[in-house]
Amino acid sequence: MPLKGAKVEKFRQRLLVKRRELMSGVRGSNVKSLESTRDEIQDIADQASSAYTKEFLLSIGDTERRMLKQVDEALYKIRQDTYGLCETCGEMISERRLEALPFARLCIACQEEEERAKVEQ
Ligand SMILES: [Zn+2]
Repeated sequence: MPLKGAKVEKFRQRLLVKRRELMSGVRGSNVKSLESTRDEIQDIADQASSAYTKEFLLSIGDTERRMLKQVDEALYKIRQDTYGLCETCGEMISERRLEALPFARLCIACQEEEERAKVEQ
């Protein structure tokens, strides 16, 4: 069962804060226009259709960009009612793990598996 109600709302708020942090971490650019859209969260793919957003995504580092994508994906899952489910095995990711990493895609077991696979490549 995915997370519901107040619990998922708590993580949603944390994801939105994280998203704002990432967005405002960029110096000198016109972040305000992006921030004004924060309540109607869009997928990063939608946003990339505007030239400004493309520029924005280029101006931030790889780490931020990856994290932003993960945050957006997590917000998307909340809308789809699948938040908190491991993408590989479909099991519930532990709340403790989500507390530490609200945008985690995998449960600990699958994450470890994935990292092991990466090393072997
Ligand atoms: Zn899993």
